[in-house]
Amino acid sequence: MGRYRLRCLECNRIVEDHYTLGCHDNALLRTEYAERTLTLKNLPGIWQFHDWLPVSGSMGSGDAPVTYRSEGFAQELGLHNLYISFSGYLPERGAFIKTCSFKELESPATLQRSIEHGNKTFVVSSAGNTARAFAQTASEVGLPLVIVIPVSCMNRLWITNDVPDNIRVIAVDGDYYDAIVLGNRVESIDGFRSEGGAKNVARRDGMGIVMLDAVLRMKTLPRHYFQAIGSGTGGIAAWEASIRLIRDGRFGDRMPHLHLAQSSPFAPIFNAWSGNRNVIAPEDVPDKSRIEETYTDILSNRNPPYGIKGGVADALSKTDGRVYAIENDEAHDAKQRFEAAEGVDILRPAAIAVAALCRSVDAGSIDPDDTILLNITGGGLSRLKEDYSPNHLGADLVVDANDLNDPTDGILEEIMGIL
Ligand SMILES: *Cc1c(COP(=O)(O)O)cnc(C)c1O
Ligand SMILES: [Zn+2]
Repeated sequence: MGRYRLRCLECNRIVEDHYTLGCHDNALLRTEYAERTLTLKNLPGIWQFHDWLPVSGSMGSGDAPVTYRSEGFAQELGLHNLYISFSGYLPERGAFIKTCSFKELESPATLQRSIEHGNKTFVVSSAGNTARAFAQTASEVGLPLVIVIPVSCMNRLWITNDVPDNIRVIAVDGDYYDAIVLGNRVESIDGFRSEGGAKNVARRDGMGIVMLDAVLRMKTLPRHYFQAIGSGTGGIAAWEASIRLIRDGRFGDRMPHLHLAQSSPFAPIFNAWSGNRNVIAPEDVPDKSRIEETYTDILSNRNPPYGIKGGVADALSKTDGRVYAIENDEAHDAKQRFEAAEGVDILRPAAIAVAALCRSVDAGSIDPDDTILLNITGGGLSRLKEDYSPNHLGADLVVDANDLNDPTDGILEEIMGIL
């Protein structure tokens, strides 16, 4: 079978990989690896986990997360086996992810997979952290990249390298959804390629490294996994990695419970799951004006891969999981408590996960002896600024969201002009 194969979760057929993102529309593809046991490779960063990445080769970019046993915050909460997976910049703990979020676990594996299947110009639509991660990786390995991003998120678009000329930025005067719509049109141009979001097995298996790294460190699967979600792709990835680790056989056979957290003013996955729905209903998606009220707009995804086979709803039901809607003051308190106890700054989305853990502990729904994995999906930005000065990318073109319905395709012409 080679190193890996792809299986459609709807028809169960094996699908050949031509950078393939789907077979049946209502199902994800999932990677099956020839290596049943995970052996770390003598390669840098994420490439140590090469056995379980859907690529043949590797590239000279890709820092791994770090897992450590918490002392300060564990004591604060009265927990005895709290582990932190930290995707960010904290050299004192061996963490060197310079764009400070776990999106940088996805970008190297995804770009490597793209190179191996006929390289095309990559198009990423993002509200910030994904764009930053792909820009950092593309700048390190010299790959062409088009970023489509809301104007309001441009402040998040920086890298620690010099800004290269292989990256183009299209800023949309609209929201994240408008950026996706425009991104889809750019991807349809010959020679361009969509990254594919949750449908891309390389993105999911890249994020799955959080669980792999943690389990190798803890020597066991955790009982509970806490993460802040917008799309929930990281939650799917943690579940899939756990399936592989159970099959590996060395880390126990109990599936971890997923504890996934959203920001209360905009929480479609929470709403659907609490309503016992296996698809997101229109009434689950708040009006987009609510996004302004969230603790962080990073998590406000209007169309997450929830109902799709192998998606978030399946991940929650197969792991006997839970979803939280975190209030802004809870997130604020959690951030302060965590930062004081652990001595590192974290990004706002990560504070949403911390708050979910605090709430579970307060409610007594977690045994203090349980092994808990807290995914700090982003952090160390203040710490990074002691060592680096971020270089901001500018927009090559600004597009008005109202022009997106332009039937004459004048926008595409404008875009072609900057590429
Ligand atoms: C994207 C992001 C998340 C949410 O990830 P999912 O794709 O929903 O799993 C959480 N935290 C940070 C810092 C992020 O950038
Ligand atoms: Zn199929």
